[in-house]
Amino acid sequence: MRYDVAIVGAGVIGCAIARELSRSLATVALIERDVEVGLGTSKANSGIIHGGHRAHDGTLKAATEWRGNQLWGELAKELPFGFERVGDLTVAFDEADLAVLHETLEQGRRRGVTGLELWDAERLRREEPNLSHEAIAALHAPSAGVVNPYEACFALAESAVRNGVDLKLEHAVEGIDRDGDGFVVRTSRGDVAARFVVNAAGLFGDAVARMAGASAPTIRARKGEEYLLDKRLAGYVGRVVFPTPSGESKGILLIPTYDGTLMVGPTAHWTADHGADTTDLDTTAAGAAEVFAGARRLAPGIAEADCIAEFAGLRAVADGEDFVIGATEVAGFLNVIGIQSPGLTAAPAIAQDVVALLAAQGLELEPDDAFVPGLEAPVRAAQLDFEELARVARGDPAFGRIACRCERVTEGEVRAAIARGARTMDGVKFRTRAGMGRCQGGFCAWRVMSLIAEATDTPIPAVTKKGGGSWIARVRTDAAERSDAPDAPDGTREVAHG
Ligand SMILES: Cc1cc2nc3c(=O)[nH]c(=O)nc-3n(C[C@H](O)[C@H](O)[C@H](O)COP(=O)(O)OP(=O)(O)OC[C@H]3O[C@@H](n4cnc5c(N)ncnc54)[C@H](O)[C@@H]3O)c2cc1C
Repeated sequence: MRYDVAIVGAGVIGCAIARELSRSLATVALIERDVEVGLGTSKANSGIIHGGHRAHDGTLKAATEWRGNQLWGELAKELPFGFERVGDLTVAFDEADLAVLHETLEQGRRRGVTGLELWDAERLRREEPNLSHEAIAALHAPSAGVVNPYEACFALAESAVRNGVDLKLEHAVEGIDRDGDGFVVRTSRGDVAARFVVNAAGLFGDAVARMAGASAPTIRARKGEEYLLDKRLAGYVGRVVFPTPSGESKGILLIPTYDGTLMVGPTAHWTADHGADTTDLDTTAAGAAEVFAGARRLAPGIAEADCIAEFAGLRAVADGEDFVIGATEVAGFLNVIGIQSPGLTAAPAIAQDVVALLAAQGLELEPDDAFVPGLEAPVRAAQLDFEELARVARGDPAFGRIACRCERVTEGEVRAAIARGARTMDGVKFRTRAGMGRCQGGFCAWRVMSLIAEATDTPIPAVTKKGGGSWIARVRTDAAERSDAPDAPDGTREVAHG
């Protein structure tokens, strides 16, 4: 079959484009090399839906940030993912900062951002008593929100698939050849023919463009380290808190995530070999020191001792620092790359723009009358009281068995996540929160692995953290030669000592 459109990359950008196209009768393949969608930069970020006032005038970031902000509100009504407009504050510590806040306020108003307000020190202390008393003012943007970005990717992709998109996971794109007026996309699992190709390959956007013979700016990776704090700090701040920005970086932030965990970060530094290394996801002692110093400047009570987890994400940065969205000299091949922050915020607006660009290039977009915008929300035991949970468990006893104690996730939720497509520990974790709490999977990892193995009919050692070779268990036998013990997927065996 020849698709109308092949999208390379199922991060939030590819998933949002696929879902937007699924409103029409166009045939679409969403091609992703990972075992699940959204496991690239789209899962490893601050999860902020920016207020819409921040991006510099005249950029594609500015053209899509506020529209994206508004569209997330619409999407959250249709699809099940965590989203809340908690608002944000940009804090000034001196007169120079205050001048920047005035400019940002004017910029936001010009753009139509609603609700922006300057707060004096007294108002700031009343609203956010844990912030530094050195702060002299803050710009409040009630339009800003927080989202669970991985849940959003899963929901966008699931909705796209329900509306006819073919999701091709574990299909690494290795080449793109011209074929008449279209393309043949060569993947690790066979060819995909399509009239149009949309390149949404994140950090590998320049490499994918080269495969098609299209030009693209070099993409460099700018790493951001983030640190999650114990839930005992839930409510410590009610809003996302930014310092007054300097340069491209937004600085170190305080982020009250949708699920109640306070997060601090991110750093912004080129990866080890000045950007070309797109696999360096290490957190570092220097990064932690920078993040906690920055966080304490905003809220002096923040302490390293409260850290329960840390991760890093990589921004895909194009020369010129702006998004690169548009047609290329190769007719029918579009770049949607260099989508660094605020790419998550902008994603639904970018998706609309890309669909309009495809239409301008000749793609017919007859509306699909059978398009279903909604998706059923999964059960969330942690959000139910005991009576409600007991009622659910009477229907299916698996909802009466706790799999993850820290986050109060039931076995039923893990099973439901697997039924909706989770194949890895991260897939279950990011759909249910099993393993995201204080013990970081110490209690539930084995249970979740067993449930994935049972549901997918695979041996436990074949269960991975996030696909590929990211196995968690090695077969441990008292005698490696025991004939009934399966080998680990890489053929290795671990022999027990003693
Ligand atoms: C630390 C950090 C904090 C951030 N905070 C925010 C924030 O708070 N708010 C905000 O709006 N934005 C934020 N961002 C930016 C946001 O995360 C990105 O803009 C967004 O996730 C980019 O999505 P994407 O789909 O372009 O890239 P990705 O999510 O990386 O998706 C690209 C996909 O392409 C796939 N792919 C690559 N090559 C191939 C191939 N050859 N074949 C098949 N598939 C391929 C990859 O596996 C990947 O899944 C942050 C970024 C970072 C790093």
